[in-house]
Amino acid sequence: MRKSLLQTGKDTKIEGFYGVGAKRAEAFHKMGIFTAEDMVYHFPRAYEPRGNIKTTADAEDGEICSLILTVATEPKNAMIRKGMTLTKFSAFDADGTCNLIYFNQPYIKDAAHKGMTFRFFGKVKRERTGVSMTSPVMESVNGTIPLRDYVPIYSLTAGITQKLMGSVVRESLQAVQSETDGIKEFLPEEMRKRLGICGIKDALRMIHMPRVMEETNIAVRRLAFDELYLFALSMGLYGKDEKTKCNSSYPNTDRHRFLSSLSYALTGAQTRTFDAIEADMTSGYRMNRLVVGDVGSGKTVCAAYAVYLALINGKQAAMMAPTEILARQHYGELSVFFGAMGYRTGLLVGSMTAAAKRKVIASLADGTTDFVIGTHALIEDAVTFTDLGLAVIDEQHRFGAGQRSLLAKKGENTHVLTMSATPIPRTLAMAVYCDTDVSIIDEMPPGRQKVDTFLVNESYRARLNAFIRKNIEAGGQVYIVCPAVEEEETLVSESGEAFPESDLLMLGAQTEDKPKKKAAVDFAKLLSEEIFPEYRSNFVHGKLNGKEKDRIMSEFAAGNIDILVSTTVIEVGVNVPRATLMIVENAETFGLSALHQLRGRVGRGTRKSYCILVSDSRSQKARERLKILCETNDGFRIAEKDLEMRGPGDFLEQTYGKTRQSGEFDLGIASLERDVKLLYTAFDEAKRTLVEDPELSSEKNKALARVLMEKLRRNGGGAF
Ligand code: ADP
Ligand code: MG
Repeated sequence: MRKSLLQTGKDTKIEGFYGVGAKRAEAFHKMGIFTAEDMVYHFPRAYEPRGNIKTTADAEDGEICSLILTVATEPKNAMIRKGMTLTKFSAFDADGTCNLIYFNQPYIKDAAHKGMTFRFFGKVKRERTGVSMTSPVMESVNGTIPLRDYVPIYSLTAGITQKLMGSVVRESLQAVQSETDGIKEFLPEEMRKRLGICGIKDALRMIHMPRVMEETNIAVRRLAFDELYLFALSMGLYGKDEKTKCNSSYPNTDRHRFLSSLSYALTGAQTRTFDAIEADMTSGYRMNRLVVGDVGSGKTVCAAYAVYLALINGKQAAMMAPTEILARQHYGELSVFFGAMGYRTGLLVGSMTAAAKRKVIASLADGTTDFVIGTHALIEDAVTFTDLGLAVIDEQHRFGAGQRSLLAKKGENTHVLTMSATPIPRTLAMAVYCDTDVSIIDEMPPGRQKVDTFLVNESYRARLNAFIRKNIEAGGQVYIVCPAVEEEETLVSESGEAFPESDLLMLGAQTEDKPKKKAAVDFAKLLSEEIFPEYRSNFVHGKLNGKEKDRIMSEFAAGNIDILVSTTVIEVGVNVPRATLMIVENAETFGLSALHQLRGRVGRGTRKSYCILVSDSRSQKARERLKILCETNDGFRIAEKDLEMRGPGDFLEQTYGKTRQSGEFDLGIASLERDVKLLYTAFDEAKRTLVEDPELSSEKNKALARVLMEKLRRNGGGAF
């Protein structure tokens, strides 16, 4: 029985909708859906093309489409096994007949009768014996609800079916339309007109119930703008915390002594970064600086200079790296460097014995250790400092915002220096880092060799294998990267049938071909057992635990492995000077920036190094994208191109880390929007809004302020 809705508005509880009892409500809650508003912001993943109408004559075998059929024979139920019924009947259109088969849906018998006409949507099977469909979605063509051409498919959770989700979404859409308690437009009409974006209620209707697919693009544009604009506003409002005055000043800056203990001269970009760090740390205000530079551009020495400034001013310093192996690598170099100056450096990583950890922790607490390098272990509660003056975070995008700030919180007015190897286009950096000062290292140390890069297809396989052999014989090591082992996600339709993504109209999908991905596991096996049995090969992938990964990486670094097959886990890197060849399989599935990062793993020694991108993609666009890598080694140029071609979504994710992590801003739909200009527009608009009304306190911005507060509250307090 239909529940009577006492209150219909955006805050209507999910329990208030048809078919949602306590148990199902709990399942919705698990997905973060509590109210009608939550529900309408749960966007479809894809759409079933039910308007793709074919006939029994022209539907191809395996095609996903609709047939409009009139029932010819009364459905018959048969018990084929205990607890399993089979319902069968036939139906016809002007061109022929089709057999319909349903499992465990005995009620079909009561719904379909001779002479009734339905639209059947599903996969058509064409055999010599005739045309059939198994478990298609059956909709009456004379029903009260008009048939839709595009039916959304949502990601689900146990206990919720596509049908239930669909009906709750439709009811929620109605509820949020309410004039009084519904979702209110929060962008001024003037702005929407100027930018050509639709109203919020229209956007929500179009994304859930598009009449034509173009409507989903219009909706995505509006909803993506909202995410980016609110994100920019929140950074403008809260990120720009007033420069924090430091109690302690850093009067000493003996740069000369530091430089004279280096074995090389700084590049111009490094010198500029030194200047900036020095200015920050002596300014009497807290430093919050990000150093961005390609792999191998020499960021560590900049961090070391910041550490040096802290130490010579009587402070402690800490450096956090995302992996144990990276922490150890830093420790190996820096403990010697600072040891020679009379400072004591400690290491704190997960795999150390409890006793060894305790010793380091005690020495940090009593101040006998000046500088500590470690992993996440550093942010555990047990770790305290006498006087932490500087927190350095390497490969910052590997950490969540919360983790990043935890380290700095272990001191008072601690300076913060973060490092990122994800080159970010200057324009984007200016837009997104309102609260952080950025130093860009866009110059490589001299003598750094260019990694020659080639794009090849499968027809080169034999030559490629010969090339691998040649490299190993010459004393080199080889990386082979395959895309992650994930299987193609299938989405479950209303009828319970699972469809692969490739058969559906994906929200925000690009029309590129999708060559089959090499499953890394099988490929690794093939390489090691059949193609290169004489070499030592190993395999690292995401499902290995951290220790095992680190162990294999260390083996590779030590030269005990010739060929390392991996998924992208090798991205954060270890220095392996003997690695001279990087092969990337299914290169088209990676972003340019990611490929550039991968390429940075080779060419770290004196030997000539190569990167081979293997791709069978026939998409012109994909090949053009990959060719950029063959033309340049400049990460910043590649980043610009990547941004141009793929939009800002990936960047924001790389820059801010895992955006879905709690406490961070969810740029879910914005990553579907490929229009970079929209990002800049959103940031420009945010600045314009804040210049006019810095606190968002005017009447005009009331709805906006409410939405922003609400979003910040949901995201855990507004710390980005
Ligand atoms: P990344 O920016 O990837 O962290 P590193 O700081 O690890 O790069 O530097 C890579 C290598 O380059 C190191 O071995 C470092 O000693 C060396 N290096 C850094 N700066 C210079 C320079 N100006 N001249 C020569 N070698 C340098
Ligand atoms: Mg580094």
